[in-house]
Amino acid sequence: MTLSLRTRLTLLCATTFAILLGLIGATSYRLLARQLDVDEMAHLTQLTAGLHGYLRFEGEHPTMAFDDSDTDQVAFVHDATRYYQIYDAHNGRLLAQSDGLEALGLHFTSDEVQAFLGEPRTYDIDTAYGRFRLSNSVISPAAGQRYLLQVGTPLDPMHNALGRYLELLLWIVLPSLIVALGAIWWIVGAALAPLSQLAADARRIGIGTLDRRLPVRGGGDQLDEVATAFNDTLVRLEAAVGEMRQFSAALAHELRTPLAALRGEIELSLLQRRWPPEQQSALTSQIEEIDKLTRLIHQLLTLARADAGDIPVARQTVDLVAVAAAVTEHLEPVAQSRDLQLRFEAREPVSVAGDGGWLERLLLNLLDNAMKFTPKGGSVSLSISREGDRAGIEVRDTGIGMPADVVPHIFERFYRADTARSSAREGAGLGLSLVRWIVDRHQGRIQVASHPGKGSTFTIWLPLDGSPP
Ligand code: ADP
Repeated sequence: MTLSLRTRLTLLCATTFAILLGLIGATSYRLLARQLDVDEMAHLTQLTAGLHGYLRFEGEHPTMAFDDSDTDQVAFVHDATRYYQIYDAHNGRLLAQSDGLEALGLHFTSDEVQAFLGEPRTYDIDTAYGRFRLSNSVISPAAGQRYLLQVGTPLDPMHNALGRYLELLLWIVLPSLIVALGAIWWIVGAALAPLSQLAADARRIGIGTLDRRLPVRGGGDQLDEVATAFNDTLVRLEAAVGEMRQFSAALAHELRTPLAALRGEIELSLLQRRWPPEQQSALTSQIEEIDKLTRLIHQLLTLARADAGDIPVARQTVDLVAVAAAVTEHLEPVAQSRDLQLRFEAREPVSVAGDGGWLERLLLNLLDNAMKFTPKGGSVSLSISREGDRAGIEVRDTGIGMPADVVPHIFERFYRADTARSSAREGAGLGLSLVRWIVDRHQGRIQVASHPGKGSTFTIWLPLDGSPP
């Protein structure tokens, strides 16, 4: 499955945006966690240092010496003594413990006290009431006296703050991503819209409209670059095609005169002398071949002039039923000679705006093909109808039909389905090219349905007379 350029660009931008948001989120989370930890540490150090200043020992009884009329000191001591305990360093006996620590069950054995004394620093400890940070420090108020002071602070508020920040991040990141996805989709769509327009304009340029150019907006951007490059290619293409058309027109024109002269000479010698039967038939068959060539050259010339826009196509009211009836009548003897049934049907008057001569040619070519490719005993029918604001021309035969892979090519110049099918049948593969040109010039559409061995149906839709072109 190939994704459209718009989808791919949107996904690319959205992924980059998501990675950036993720990086910003992760970095800010880590920075905040580190800063909160540093603050917590500083707070604990401050509490411990403060307690060192206020603690006095009378015998083995620690007391707090502070000015209870100073609210700052009272508040500080209240804060610092919420979680604290003091051990005698000599025997590991607990000398004082705050209610807060007692409730947590943080009571250490004499060995543990010795271990803390061996390395007095801060420890993070898990308790039944969450994680705690304990600072350990030694107090020596007098010679021979050593105590271990432990001051604690709960780490839950810090973890809760971090958790809330993470939640907030997710609430910001996810909606931002969705909004960004929509915005990027819209922006990429808007940026690519002129490109799609350019493609649509380019698609409208065909071999017959090589004089058209893509619009250059004048902004000097990449789109203008593409349009200009394409237009330059069109200029070269138009010149090359023009040369080729001129060449084939000139060639066809030049061939006509010698062929006519040749035919005249053969005819003359046929009339002037009595030839033995063999030579007589050879000369007659030469005339037939020359006629075939002349027809081909005539078709070539017509198409070349049509391409060059040298052929005028009138726009008059044409009674399609009358034209079709005349063509059928004209072809009736040919149909009879080939043992074919030729039918014509029209239930109502149908008129189109166009060129009667070219429409007659269109019907002739289609009926000629239908009769060429239908074996003896078969039937060919032409029907004219109207549907809404369109006129319908249907040419149906019960002939050899065409395989599905042939149908898309039959309007190409010089295309003839495999020679085995058509070797015996005259034609150079130009008839349907002309049909398509006529249909195009009448702003019509052509459809082909064909089944090998069963027959083909060519349907043409033309705008009715009076309907907008
Ligand atoms: P041609 O001069 O060979 O008839 P056309 O352009 O008229 O050239 O047709 C192109 C090819 O399309 C033919 O050679 C033939 O193979 C096929 N074709 C056209 N009309 C019919 C039809 N009614 N039935 C079967 N094949 C057809």
